Amino acid sequence: MEPMDHVIPAPPQPSVAVAGGGRFPVHRIYCVGRNFADHAKEMGAAVDKSAPTFFMKPADAVVASGVAIPYPSGTEDLHHEVELVVALASGGSDIDQARALACVYGYGVGIDLTRRDLQARAKQKGMPWDTAKGFDRSAPVSALVPAARSGHPARGALVLEVNGTVRQQGDIADMVHSVPEIIAELSKLYELAAGDLVFCGTPAGVGPLLRGDAYRATFADLAVLEGRITA
Ligand code: MN
Repeated sequence: MEPMDHVIPAPPQPSVAVAGGGRFPVHRIYCVGRNFADHAKEMGAAVDKSAPTFFMKPADAVVASGVAIPYPSGTEDLHHEVELVVALASGGSDIDQARALACVYGYGVGIDLTRRDLQARAKQKGMPWDTAKGFDRSAPVSALVPAARSGHPARGALVLEVNGTVRQQGDIADMVHSVPEIIAELSKLYELAAGDLVFCGTPAGVGPLLRGDAYRATFADLAVLEGRITA
């Protein structure tokens, strides 16, 4: 007898590597939109300082550093968005900003891969962003650095290079909503839990990734994510 009466084999548990060893099992992936004024401006959108814009990706959208990503179906305008990724070791509802960082396991760098053409169409029609944002392999993420090692950085460069050329460069100090604020706001809408990842929004310079492109994303001197888009 199986330990549980699943009627089909249980799906594999998505997880992310931890720098120094071990793996972080992923529960949910939350994302923040419009969290840098320069990026909101390039998208022709307004920043809402009162509350962050949230959306989600499926947990099994994570892709490790060094793994090639096939060009996604359904788009001819795949875009990169380099972002700070926060990993939670605990959660809850209505978390105080003052206590939010105590929930953080560690930090990494990720790319919020986006089907920009589908997002533009959705925005035009006032429809949801799911197919533009929450698709298969849409969340490449570096190995996570435990906060026990890195502390809780309030500043640090986010850089994305494509084929060796810098495309995006920003600093998390310029995020409209800080990490504690994001965690507090998210926890008003969702019960946060150990295993949650939060993509914290991208600075200006988003642009296309083409078949054959190699990308390299870094956060300060803490995290590196490399990969390639294949046919
Ligand atoms: Mn994004």
